[in-house]
Amino acid sequence: MNIEIPNLTAFDEAALDQAFAQLERQARDEAAALDYWAAVEAFRLEWLGQKQGRLKEISGRWLKAAPAEAKKALGMRFNALKAVVEGLLDEALRTGQYKGQYGSWDVRALKAEAIDITLPGSQRLAGAEHPITKTLNEITSVFAALGYSVGVGPEVETDYYNFESMNFPPGHPARDTQDTLVVANQDRRPQRDRLLLRTHTSPVQMRTMELQAPPVRIVIPGKVHRNDAADATHSPIFHQVEGLCVDTNITFSDLKGTLDYAMKALFGSAVKTRFFPSFFPFTEPSADVQISCIFCGGKGCRKCKNSGWIELLGCGMVDPAVFAFAAEKQPAYDPKKISGFAFGMGVERIAMMKYGVSEIGQFYAGDMRFLGQFV
Ligand SMILES: [Zn+2]
Repeated sequence: MNIEIPNLTAFDEAALDQAFAQLERQARDEAAALDYWAAVEAFRLEWLGQKQGRLKEISGRWLKAAPAEAKKALGMRFNALKAVVEGLLDEALRTGQYKGQYGSWDVRALKAEAIDITLPGSQRLAGAEHPITKTLNEITSVFAALGYSVGVGPEVETDYYNFESMNFPPGHPARDTQDTLVVANQDRRPQRDRLLLRTHTSPVQMRTMELQAPPVRIVIPGKVHRNDAADATHSPIFHQVEGLCVDTNITFSDLKGTLDYAMKALFGSAVKTRFFPSFFPFTEPSADVQISCIFCGGKGCRKCKNSGWIELLGCGMVDPAVFAFAAEKQPAYDPKKISGFAFGMGVERIAMMKYGVSEIGQFYAGDMRFLGQFV
């Protein structure tokens, strides 16, 4: 750092002008040569430093030595020089370039590249429920409002829970209607312990009854597997919501009333229901439930094959044989003392009806153009 401030010998206007002009020229030359940040800081210290800065030096020596009549003229020039130096420093900091050991950059270029926070950002899509999840939650919440709790259970089940305890004994022809994948290499196990992918969520009914004495009111949403060929309305993997209600004096009227309410809650208050005799191993009597066609209001259309009705779910009064299996662990399930009903519906089927989807595969294809419609 070059801090050589000569002593002033003359204090007339011309001498002051010359001395200050020389300093200003020096400051400008040095500022123009600043090429890295450390140099800018050195420049600041050299001129404005509180201990050894040139301006400090000048005010100390020149001002002190000046005769009284020259002090004002000198002071004015001093202040002007100080303003020039500060201006140069500001300019160097604002527009300076760095050319040093870390590479080089240019403050102006950095400014040009800076993020413009006033620009709208790129939009990130928020997640949304899949239409199957949405439908499943809707069905569940209809029953939750009736006091049902939600039960869940394993997707890999034993033969006992999936079939035997649901009154499908080994060799029973009803098993053929629910063919499924069976875990390999279990030949040495008793049949009831063999593992398979559950074909319905009914095993959770049994698991719940084994843990909980009546009364029971549960809905069981979940994924199920069947050896069904995929077509427009079938998929080997789909979702079900089943329900179970057990208490004293539960009658078929309770079943009808519950499902009629649920269908109106799901499809609108104008929907009517009707019950047809059917067969399921785990209920007796059993029924198929039809609802009045939501597309034509019951007049008859292509969707309801001109019948005005659409078959939607299965139900029935819990078979005493099922209660007998539950009673092995919970004696309170004595079919002479309690009764109950069960029902089950396919979530995909209901979602297809609610949203007018004609191909079940669209739910699983992961096509955002399709899924985006349900957000
Ligand atoms: Zn119709």
